[in-house]
Amino acid sequence: MSATILDGKNLSKVSEESIKKRVEILSNEGVKPTLATILVGNDPASETYVKMKQNTCARMGMKSIAIELPKDTSTEELLKKIESLNNDKNIHGILLQHPVPSQIDERKCFDAIDINKDVDGVTCLGFGNMSMGIEAYGSCTPAGIIRLIEHYNLDIQGLNAVVVGRSPILGKPMAMMLLNLNATVTICHSRTKNIEKIIKDADLIVGAVGIPKFIKSDWIKQNCIVIDAGYHPEKCGDIDLNGIENIAKAYTPVPGGVGPMTINTLMLQTLISAEKTLG
Ligand code: NAP
Repeated sequence: MSATILDGKNLSKVSEESIKKRVEILSNEGVKPTLATILVGNDPASETYVKMKQNTCARMGMKSIAIELPKDTSTEELLKKIESLNNDKNIHGILLQHPVPSQIDERKCFDAIDINKDVDGVTCLGFGNMSMGIEAYGSCTPAGIIRLIEHYNLDIQGLNAVVVGRSPILGKPMAMMLLNLNATVTICHSRTKNIEKIIKDADLIVGAVGIPKFIKSDWIKQNCIVIDAGYHPEKCGDIDLNGIENIAKAYTPVPGGVGPMTINTLMLQTLISAEKTLG
């Protein structure tokens, strides 16, 4: 039996149509959903990511405000900027593009973002709330993955879920979201021993490691749900997907799986934040 393809490209397209309609309704009420993007310095990859987010806002009828700061910006200067955006009632979401230059205390700046505008799900408070099952905007990549899992009605209760990677934006929140859906979660990282053995026992695997094809297809158990969050210039992810259609129960293709859901989730969360201003 061939595996189900978890088609993030298609789901994000369908979602985009519904977001556009909701944006129009809000705009008619006098509220234009607005995302402020902050880019510090001129890292080419970050510039591209921010541009993509701004273009997606425009496509959906949302507004984006681009804040570009020089690479020698200090923590204090960035905190001041964030505070002014927090206080601006016409801004519904704030995105601070990661990574910031090394002289900046990134964690302090993330945590300065008002919880109600943390549509990228980067604050400790948002993470804590989400982990405790209290409403919060999720970090966009894992939240997008959960939307895919739910859209395809995959019952993950009691499954042995293995997340490879523990970054603050991906691996850690992913693990908590899977736990909240009653999976039994193992988190692997660079010091984990016997990764291959742990993965071979997984009913659900999330590759969030940042190394092309790190997880080999012959480590994956028959009928496993395979989620690949990685994306590399050679157009592959963190999992070797060769022959996966004959092994997995369901899998995310690369590209066209997790990636489109990430940006769509950012837009959706910005829209929700704007809708909340109407009460
Ligand atoms: P990251 O911050 O570099 O974290 C990588 C994680 O993998 C770390 O926790 C690290 O462990 C672990 N790791 C590294 N080498 C390992 C090894 N040999 N064995 C086991 N674990 C190892 O990366 P990230 O930001 O989470 O991103 C991970 C991947 O997702 C990347 O491919 C990135 O491009 C992709 N990504 C995609 C999207 C999207 O929208 N599709 C968004 C974000 C990220 P330690 O903690 O021990 O160092």
